[in-house]
Amino acid sequence: MKIDWNRRTCARKGHVTYAPDDPRLRIRLHARTELGDIWRCLRCGDFTPGEPHGSGPASEAPLVPRGKVLRDLFVLRFLAVERALRGVFIVLVAVAVWKFSNSQDAVRRLFDEYLDVFRPVFRHFHHDLDHSPVVGSIQKAFGYRHSTLLVVAGVLLAYALIELIEAVGLWYAKRWAEYLTVVATAAFLPLEIYELTEHISWVKIATLTLNILAVLYILLTKRLFGLRGGRRKFDEERRSASLLEVEESAGVGHQA
Ligand SMILES: [Zn+2]
Repeated sequence: MKIDWNRRTCARKGHVTYAPDDPRLRIRLHARTELGDIWRCLRCGDFTPGEPHGSGPASEAPLVPRGKVLRDLFVLRFLAVERALRGVFIVLVAVAVWKFSNSQDAVRRLFDEYLDVFRPVFRHFHHDLDHSPVVGSIQKAFGYRHSTLLVVAGVLLAYALIELIEAVGLWYAKRWAEYLTVVATAAFLPLEIYELTEHISWVKIATLTLNILAVLYILLTKRLFGLRGGRRKFDEERRSASLLEVEESAGVGHQA
């Protein structure tokens, strides 16, 4: 199924019309009907009744993202939301680790008390709590030094910060954020692959797949690191996708 990103966006945000000063361009974007003036939308190309939203020289017409550019914006915003959620989650984990580091002994006492209460219950179901891997790893956490836990909380917080900065930048389609996302995400890929060799889970596979796709998608569509013509080509493509530019290159400017 092919999604018409232009019409979708116009349905949500409304059309964008512009009256260029140049009469040769104007005539292409404007028509007079019995019901009044109609102007052609710079995004979807449909004619819409009413006054134009702006007017002036063609060079000052708003650069309206269209087609593929719109689709890219949509994908980037999806990634931004995903990154924001992950960032917030990791902040919560970091806070939990920090709080735990401050009250390790109290939590340990509480945990041991609960363990004493539940031990007979679990034994009844032939489950030995003292050899359970979950209980084991929790008890191991009690053995960590206060400073180690603080370092862990700090590293988690730094990672969360990167994710949140990526989220904001991707939302506004900033080029630095695309670089940051590609570099930071790619840097963590070896770790994610290593994690999979230790223990396979669907969440890990889904995260790894999403991250690899995100890196490739941003690299290629945004032409980072000079790929596919780089920045120059990217800007060119954006400009040529603007309807007013299309009208101009359709030879309107050369007819005089
Ligand atoms: Zn429109």
